[in-house]
Amino acid sequence: MEEPKEILNFDDLRRYRLADEGYFVITDSTREAIIHKVNSKCIKADSFNLKVTINDRKQGSYFWVDSIATASREFKAKRCKVCKPELNLVHPSTFDV
Ligand SMILES: [Zn+2]
Repeated sequence: MEEPKEILNFDDLRRYRLADEGYFVITDSTREAIIHKVNSKCIKADSFNLKVTINDRKQGSYFWVDSIATASREFKAKRCKVCKPELNLVHPSTFDV
């Protein structure tokens, strides 16, 4: 398993989207972390810009993870209800759905 990688700029974001592997985790200081598909429409440039560039990651950040299991382990992240990252890659016990 790979360690989560924090995404610090648009180039990173674009690179991961093009590679189309793994998932994004968006953390937020006021809400639980959410796992998204890398090519989901949930990943918006404006939101990324606000959180990472303008707010300087003080209220949350974007991470790339290799798997849902990593997202669950490292961030206690929940699956996005909109883009629905796959369930079948990980044992159901790692989620409290
Ligand atoms: Zn999503």
